[in-house]
Amino acid sequence: MYRVKEAFYTLQGEGAQSGRAAVFCRFSKCNLWNGREQDRAAAVCNFCDTDFVGTDGQNGGRFETADALANHIRQLWPAGEGRPYVVCTGGEPLLQLDEALIAAFHQAGFEVGVETNGTLPAPAGIDWLCVSPKADAEVVIRECNEVKLVYPQPLALPERFTDIQAEHYFLSPMASPSLLEGGLDPVKQSNTRKATDYCLKHPRWRLTLQMHKIVGID
Ligand code: SF4
Repeated sequence: MYRVKEAFYTLQGEGAQSGRAAVFCRFSKCNLWNGREQDRAAAVCNFCDTDFVGTDGQNGGRFETADALANHIRQLWPAGEGRPYVVCTGGEPLLQLDEALIAAFHQAGFEVGVETNGTLPAPAGIDWLCVSPKADAEVVIRECNEVKLVYPQPLALPERFTDIQAEHYFLSPMASPSLLEGGLDPVKQSNTRKATDYCLKHPRWRLTLQMHKIVGID
């Protein structure tokens, strides 16, 4: 049984795949926060801006088999257009994503991208792996395509993660979690300045902005 909060077709807004069309498959649940506001302060990760609780979002649901979920995701890709790409996100997708589902996505013609907090081992067969370390949670994935660190996090300084083998290292300015519906965010503006300064001093790191929020898409 796979539990999916929501799934939608959009453009990837962050990292090295920024601007690429993708079906986002947002899995329910995370291992670093239960998603309840009353428990946020005590969570290992407490700046989350995503609703990953339940299966009641757009195109969400429970899927008994890997093929059923892959077919569901396939319906969201425009027929006959380009190389289908699915981004498995969450919540924490590696709580549910397994080799059977990766094989079903491949069978349906998809390249498979994953955005994970890196605290769980990744199954074989992922085509694009993005690790986004959180606070003092131990990262067990030591090799990936890109590291994307929300910045600043006092317990997750960038220099802690340069021993992860990756093609790209990105800093993503932290937003205020209280501004989920958009609008001016002075916290994010300040953090963008800090991330810019860090990248200028440490050019291994590149700045990534949430393009989907800037242009106003999902
Ligand atoms: S690890 Fe990701 S999904 Fe989980 S609480 Fe943190 S930001 Fe949200």
